[in-house]
Amino acid sequence: MAEHILVIEDEQKIADFLRRGLTYEGFQVSVALDGEAGLKAARDNPPDLVVLDVMLPGLDGMEVCRRLRAGGSVPILMLTAKDSVADRVKGLDSGADDYVVKPFAFEELIARVRALLRRSRPSEEMTLHFADLTLNVATREVTRGGRRIELTTKEFDLLHFFMRHPRQVLPREMLYDRIWGYDFGGESNILEVYIRYLRSKLEAANEPRLIQTVRGVGYSLREE
Ligand code: CA
Repeated sequence: MAEHILVIEDEQKIADFLRRGLTYEGFQVSVALDGEAGLKAARDNPPDLVVLDVMLPGLDGMEVCRRLRAGGSVPILMLTAKDSVADRVKGLDSGADDYVVKPFAFEELIARVRALLRRSRPSEEMTLHFADLTLNVATREVTRGGRRIELTTKEFDLLHFFMRHPRQVLPREMLYDRIWGYDFGGESNILEVYIRYLRSKLEAANEPRLIQTVRGVGYSLREE
């Protein structure tokens, strides 16, 4: 059965962004737009993980976190707009397990969600395989045919996303949304640049191409 994630976030744009992304990853998602509704939702249908915004109208995120904590051991990932050490410490003091600073790219968030869920079920597969490619989620090691490949953070995130969705056509907009985040605006060729970097690393020993261009749509991880 799909794991259930409760998102407590009052900003509709971010709530939608999270619902879309998490649903696509196969989670069952509920959204609450304030703290009271979030606590009620958590009681009515206990989630496997809570994504909780710190800045909420009424009952704030810290308080919601404390009350959730008092009620059980559900993993809590906090969203904080303030990139200050004091807020992070306060968030973790109130019982959050981890936090992500806004604005964040979805891949950043999903990596933390998966890490938190893994703690409660440690048997999850840590290594993804496609053709002669392997990617270890925990150590972030990538190899092709046994050859070690060094990737930057964004290159790794992009390849990780491809490897979670092999053979699917992934539209450009989705890749921007997922790797660069909801605040990424305007026309850009940064995706093409990163695809070029990735291909050159993955094909450094003249291996066949694995990231294919789907003209007019996006890209797909598949063999030629
Ligand atoms: Ca907020």
